[in-house]
Amino acid sequence: MAKAKTAFVCNDCGADFPKWQGQCGECHAWNTLSEIRLSAPAGKSSGKRATGRTGFAGSVATVKRLEEVAVVDLPRLSSGFDEFDRVLGGGFIPGSSILIGGHPGAGKSTLLLQTLCYLASEHSALYVTGEESPEQIAMRANRLSLPTDQLQLMAETDVDTILSSAESLKPKILVVDSIQVVHSETLTSAPGSVSQVRDCAAQLTRYAKQTGTVLILVGHVTKDGSLAGPKVLEHMIDCSILLEGDHDSRYRTLRGQKNRFGAVNELGIFAMTDTGMREVTNPSAIFLDRSEHTAPGTTVVVVWEGTRPCYC
Ligand SMILES: [Zn+2]
Repeated sequence: MAKAKTAFVCNDCGADFPKWQGQCGECHAWNTLSEIRLSAPAGKSSGKRATGRTGFAGSVATVKRLEEVAVVDLPRLSSGFDEFDRVLGGGFIPGSSILIGGHPGAGKSTLLLQTLCYLASEHSALYVTGEESPEQIAMRANRLSLPTDQLQLMAETDVDTILSSAESLKPKILVVDSIQVVHSETLTSAPGSVSQVRDCAAQLTRYAKQTGTVLILVGHVTKDGSLAGPKVLEHMIDCSILLEGDHDSRYRTLRGQKNRFGAVNELGIFAMTDTGMREVTNPSAIFLDRSEHTAPGTTVVVVWEGTRPCYC
């Protein structure tokens, strides 16, 4: 048996190197490299021709002249929230992959569950939960009075099972909550490690591109931001969105950090309520109408974030 190939990946920026070194050559951070085992190409060990998911956009690549490529105005799927759509650049684009990052408890699962229950009425949608049980998701949906009759739910962490279920169900929208618990049998490292996150995300994004599925990955960020995940994933995904908010505040901001289909730094504002996430369409009203803060000498300035001016 051939020796397993390994590489060294930076936990901070995701750059990889053939040999270990103390400092990352890309982002110059120290002691951030960790060893990953590269998965063997399918079919190689058995001597057979590789079958199934190979290549980026299908098994056979064809060369076309640029003018032959059909330019289609990609229809965007609305999330049901104007605030979310604005951050996405107008809605979800089929075949795109989106990463929703944030601290645990920020409300990522709540926001996505609301979005998917809304979308499931018109498009087939699959929610893969790797952290919460289906019962917990159902309880939350009932508590938020969401329509539950159309959304398909699966509790699974094995990437191959997720992909084969997706291939048979053919959902238009696929949510994987979260990418840190998904693992591949072909890798020996633990779920959540750089190699697992990278490999599983690569397989899922490849599936999304090939089938035109909207892929939404949930990624947790720890307090020091050190968790392998969002940073490593940024190269593969089309859109990276961060959901932020303090535990003592009910307001949450959705901020676009990378978007291949829209403006970056776009901002959406939500309030966490008993009935789930509610969008705040006029944030200036909340931040200005605070009578306890009125004091002589107060200055109001306009801040421009993304395409949206805001008073504070
Ligand atoms: Zn680095």
